[in-house]
Amino acid sequence: MIVDVLVVGAGLAGLHTATLLAQHGHDVLLVERRPTLTGAIRTTGIFVRRTLDDFALPAECLGPPIRRVVLYPPGLRRQVALVSARDEYRVADMAPLYVAAARAAADAGVRIALGTRYAGRRADCFLLAGRDGPTKVRARFVVGADGARSRVARDLALDRNRHLLVGAEEVFRIPVGEEPPTFHCVLEPSLAPGYLAWVVNDGRHAHVGVAGYADRFPDGLRRALERFSASAPGLPGVDRPEQVERRGGPIPVGGVLRRISCADGLLVGDAAGAVSPLTAGGLDPCLRLSELAAAVLDEALRAGHPEALTHYDGAALRARFRGRLMLRRGLAQVRTPAVAAAAFTLLRTPFGRAAASRVLFGDGSFPSP
Ligand SMILES: Cc1cc2nc3c(=O)[nH]c(=O)nc-3n(C[C@H](O)[C@H](O)[C@H](O)COP(=O)(O)OP(=O)(O)OC[C@H]3O[C@@H](n4cnc5c(N)ncnc54)[C@H](O)[C@@H]3O)c2cc1C
Repeated sequence: MIVDVLVVGAGLAGLHTATLLAQHGHDVLLVERRPTLTGAIRTTGIFVRRTLDDFALPAECLGPPIRRVVLYPPGLRRQVALVSARDEYRVADMAPLYVAAARAAADAGVRIALGTRYAGRRADCFLLAGRDGPTKVRARFVVGADGARSRVARDLALDRNRHLLVGAEEVFRIPVGEEPPTFHCVLEPSLAPGYLAWVVNDGRHAHVGVAGYADRFPDGLRRALERFSASAPGLPGVDRPEQVERRGGPIPVGGVLRRISCADGLLVGDAAGAVSPLTAGGLDPCLRLSELAAAVLDEALRAGHPEALTHYDGAALRARFRGRLMLRRGLAQVRTPAVAAAAFTLLRTPFGRAAASRVLFGDGSFPSP
């Protein structure tokens, strides 16, 4: 098979990049190892205001707007509630959102091969392992949209994510309650070492999750989620059902990688480390970086040589993440309940509330290249 671009991975980054390239008239093959896009989802699906403003996401896949965030110290007492005057977040129903994105890709002309794994590179061919056995593809460029532990990054000798959190959550339907849609965040290092435990209750679904550094969970990620789930705040009168959807995966928080392109291709989304080091939000970054990726690939394909890919420079983008990388280092240092409680003393001051509001409700997004 011969194509202009082989895109590996049909998460949001791969789907968006593939669609934009096909809309420019290029021949695109998108391969995804999962047999369906509705299984093994790896995200809560919280979209921030800037993303909702700038990208046309299917409205029927979005939950009610969330304006309220409650931050909890260890022990869950004396929490800090912050309420924005604007709609700040919506949690997407990710399974239909991926299906809608795949439909848009197919409509634009992308060929999508599910159940097809990128298995490596040999000479000038890319190797795929699919339902019908192995296939060789010749592509002018390859796009690694294959997540935090990208095989494409390795094969192209590009930078790879080294600084990762791991996260897991349970998702279930809930009855409409009295509480306004709320995002609850718990700073408790034994449940979420170096990050947060969360409950999102938007009045339709509950997402109950924890994330942190894999080697710092006292008795493992799964047990931390069980413990948190047993006492999670923000779900008054809601019983956890027997059957819940489970999600999880690695989250790169080391900032955008420096070398994310070469003459043969480039990386997008988690593969490129395009995740906010502080909030661990990657949905806005993956959409924005995909736009740049599609633009430079379009230029390179039209010009007939890879020169344009040198404009796809992770080091330049990374420089804009200095502040967030510093705050990540701060959050990583919250190792004991005493330090978390001290952080809350600061958070309760007007300065602390203003700083938290700026992080949670600010206008920042992944920097426009
Ligand atoms: C538990 C959790 C909760 C999160 N919640 C949020 C949130 O609420 N908001 C937010 O902004 N961010 C969140 N994030 C981060 C965000 O989900 C990711 O940054 C974003 O989804 C990355 O998209 P992606 O397309 O780059 O990668 P992915 O969605 O991981 O897609 C990569 C795809 O590549 C496929 N693949 C991998 N290897 C191969 C191969 N060899 N061959 C073929 N296919 C392959 C995988 O199956 C996968 O479908 C969360 C992350 C986690 C782990």
